[in-house]
Order: sequence, then structure tokens, then C-alpha cells
Amino acid sequence: MSPVTHFFAGWLLASATPLNRREKTAVVCAGLAPDLDGLGIIPELLTRNSSHPLLWFSQYHHALHTLAFALLVTLAAWLYCALPRFTLGPNIQSPSAPTRPAMAAALAFLSFHLHLFCDLIGSRGPDGYSWPIPYLSPFSSRFQITWHGQWALNGWQNILITTLLMFFTLWISVGKFASPLELISAGANKAVVHALRKHH
Ligand SMILES: [Zn+2]
Repeated sequence: MSPVTHFFAGWLLASATPLNRREKTAVVCAGLAPDLDGLGIIPELLTRNSSHPLLWFSQYHHALHTLAFALLVTLAAWLYCALPRFTLGPNIQSPSAPTRPAMAAALAFLSFHLHLFCDLIGSRGPDGYSWPIPYLSPFSSRFQITWHGQWALNGWQNILITTLLMFFTLWISVGKFASPLELISAGANKAVVHALRKHH
């Protein structure tokens, strides 16, 4: 599925928990992290008509959709949440507020796998290719996950799911005073939520 869908899915997952803003950021980023291997699309498109086209997207997309990378991302999420003073990102609201780095790491692991699941069910390419997930790569290439019922990346199912996720996001934003903007700025979140509630 598209990064937009993964973003809302990750944020909703994080919002169902008592995590603070920084920890939610870690969970959302973990849900987007597998698609870092899709950034090869940029050089691939730019060099498409050159004499030496770079096929980095075709070759490496899904190379990071693996258990090994999930564990690395989980460790990074834990460090990011356990050592807030040493890294950038939203600060914890007050020094006495509870922090939950272990829960954030567990949810980051879950968020990563939610991404894999979403890709498994709805990421068939326009050419019909199902982008198998090489879950145990680089240790074993034998285990490739696919699902025969997989629908297309631009299928109506994905549009419906994304619309529903956005609807729930709006609902939670108004109900819980927390919108995805809280990941960037507490002030922006507050302003948007107040504006939304006024029109409610
Ligand atoms: Zn993906």
C-alpha cells in the first residue's frame, strides 16, 4: 500500500495507546521505514532515458521488508525513546510524565509488521507483479511471502481503507485532542483540533 495509508495506519495504532508524542513518532516512523527501499524510484525515474539507467527501485524494492530490518528498526525506536536527550524530535511534555520505551519498541515492531501485512494484501503492481516479501532475507531467500488474493496498489479496496483510516483519524483528532500534527508540533496540533471542534 502507499506511504499515505501506512502513515495513517501507524498513527492510529499509536493513538490507541498511552504513548507520548515522541513515542508515537517512533511507532509511525517504524510503519513507514520498510519503504525506505522504495526511494530508489527517484534515481530510476531520473535515469530512465539515459545510457546507464539505474534500476534501483526494480532491484531493491522490498529489500528492507524483512525481519532483520524490523529488529533493527525496533532497536532504533527503543533507543530513540529511551534516550530522548540525545536525539532530535518531540520532547516529552514534562520531565515527570511517564515514558514507555519498551512499549514503544514493541509497537514499533508491530507497526512495521502491519506495513508488511498491508503490502501483502494490497500492493499488486500495474504489471500484475505481486512484490513477494523476502521476510528472512538476507539469511534465506527461500521464504517469500505472497497472497494469491492480493489486490492492486491502486485498487478500490485501498482507496476505501485509506478513506476509512482518514475518517477515524479525524474522529480521534476531535475526540481525543490529538491529530497527526502532534508528531511535528504540539502548538499546530492544538490549533487544528480547536478549529475542527468549532465546526463540529
Ligand atoms: Zn512497503
